[in-house]
Amino acid sequence: MANIGFIGLGIMGKPMARNLMKAGHTLTVYDVVTASVDEVAAAGANRGESSSAVAAVTDIIVTMLPDGPQVEEAVLGPGGLLEGARKGAIVVDMSSISPMVSQKVAAACAEKGVEFLDAPVSGGEPKAVDGTLAIMVGGKKEVFDTVEPVLKAMGSSVTLTGAVGAGNVTKLANQIMVACNIAAMGEALVLATKAGLDPEVVFNAVKGGLAGSTVLNAKAPMVIGRNFKPGFRIKLHQKDLRNALLAGESLKAPLPLTSLVQQILMALMNDGKGDCDHSAIVNFVEDLAGIEVKKPA
Ligand code: NAD
Repeated sequence: MANIGFIGLGIMGKPMARNLMKAGHTLTVYDVVTASVDEVAAAGANRGESSSAVAAVTDIIVTMLPDGPQVEEAVLGPGGLLEGARKGAIVVDMSSISPMVSQKVAAACAEKGVEFLDAPVSGGEPKAVDGTLAIMVGGKKEVFDTVEPVLKAMGSSVTLTGAVGAGNVTKLANQIMVACNIAAMGEALVLATKAGLDPEVVFNAVKGGLAGSTVLNAKAPMVIGRNFKPGFRIKLHQKDLRNALLAGESLKAPLPLTSLVQQILMALMNDGKGDCDHSAIVNFVEDLAGIEVKKPA
């Protein structure tokens, strides 16, 4: 069993940390929010006083933080884990961040003899709780092989996708497909509703055909039921598409649809919907048409 550090005990980090303990690993945890550390310590983890203090006593250190700036702060900043990490330690960053930031942090780790993997996840809180996340990993094969059994305590699918940064490129590809799929679904259901059709009948008619998808099955019932409770928040998806556009720019890969949906997400944040589920992308199209997608009265 491994001696694991865990930094970032939010919606995703808490259940992931619990699953590592359930699998028999020893955990030392840290979060800037003390109440979150208290909660996971009460479930059996050791308390770390800082990221560097966690790294000083562990061999594998998982980070699960909001975005690149927080990962840079926790790994490279003052009191960050590189100040305490032992030579040969492995940092596994499971946050969804820009692949360029993954590569920058990995290079700084390498200078200190510390290995780095980027390993973002898909599946959201329910799959974090069940330990059935899809985990997309970037890094060296031999480092991946060492960490794979640990990742399997948190996910049912663990895939090495390439060198450092590849995990986050894969995650961004995932987020592009999900966002554009929801936006297309929104236009389709608004059109059908404006034409006087029952959107539920339309959904049931198309879901078995080529337009059917996991996104459609998960999100159309939410929209028709007017339930926009997250799920996955608009503001986190906006952050992911911003990171996709930054990656696209550095690779000279134009992403016109991503760009449009990212702007729609930003407008929805300005409209006070940043904490709504990303299915609320549909609200933007509804406002343009002056109609709500719901069953006829
Ligand atoms: P969250 O905001 O709930 O949790 C982040 C945690 O990091 C918080 O507890 C915060 O206090 C802590 N933190 C921030 N800066 C820190 C620092 N410098 N040092 C220590 N702790 C710090 O976010 P979340 O929903 O758990 O998401 C985490 C990551 O996983 C994000 O990148 C997100 O995009 C990704 N993700 C989320 C979901 C989801 O459904 N929530 C699904 C897949 C991927």
